[in-house]
Amino acid sequence: MYLSNYHSHCSFCDGRNSMEEFVSSAIAQGITKYGFSSHAPLPFLTQWTMLEEDFLDYEKEFYRLKELYSNKIELFLGLEIDYIDGCSDIDNEFFSDKKLDFTIGSVHYLDKIADNQYWTIDGCFKEFDDGLNQLFGGNIHRASKRFFEVTGLMIEKGGFDIVGHLDKITYHGLKYKDFKLTDKWFFDLVSDILLLIKEKNLILEINTKALTEHGLTFPHQIFFPLINEMKIPVVVNSDCHYLTRVIDGFKPTFEALKNAGFKTMQQLFDRNWRAVEFDDWKI
Ligand SMILES: [Zn+2]
Ligand SMILES: [Zn+2]
Repeated sequence: MYLSNYHSHCSFCDGRNSMEEFVSSAIAQGITKYGFSSHAPLPFLTQWTMLEEDFLDYEKEFYRLKELYSNKIELFLGLEIDYIDGCSDIDNEFFSDKKLDFTIGSVHYLDKIADNQYWTIDGCFKEFDDGLNQLFGGNIHRASKRFFEVTGLMIEKGGFDIVGHLDKITYHGLKYKDFKLTDKWFFDLVSDILLLIKEKNLILEINTKALTEHGLTFPHQIFFPLINEMKIPVVVNSDCHYLTRVIDGFKPTFEALKNAGFKTMQQLFDRNWRAVEFDDWKI
């Protein structure tokens, strides 16, 4: 099996280094299959998404590096595409002529709050807490329900390969005392969404971005046995924004997956995803 990562950011969005620096870092850390998945442009400006007019440069720089490093690493061109209910999704005209090797579907924004802005569940805690109060009267259960409802709409629509950081709302959600992963209401929300992923034949990402610092994978490790039982194909990704995080959290995640009974993970061969055995992972 090859060491791979298909969820990564660089200076074309909010990643902290250039594409080439990430390629060099990936090679140095033993990765042989690496995908770029910059935050795709949105219909409104943000601090962290790519600008529409930068896509051509993104593509050009990608193909320059793919060629230049072809004897050391296999590179893949992707995007992380937001689903915002009633505002933006993969059907945006922008995506219609883009030739990508893979795509990740993710939810970062829910509904509108003050000043016509969308509430992000992926910002700082203050931003999260303010939006939670405005939209859901501070009720984290209702917010979680809405988060998975929007995630469900994204999955129903499909058109992408990988479901990104499935339960990202846990990152801030767990800071509320009445939010527990083991509670039935939460477990049921996750189970239902997993059923939908299975039905739609999508790949589920096991996102390691917050593992080292916060002890969390998305989805959380407690769901690994259920995901394995449901035979949902998975891919382990780091969602790195820093050169030092390219394979951060991989080792304990592979261990946890193996302990939960997983034998394979998905990897890209040209534009086809295939299950590859875990056996000879060496990090
Ligand atoms: Zn994301
Ligand atoms: Zn990301």
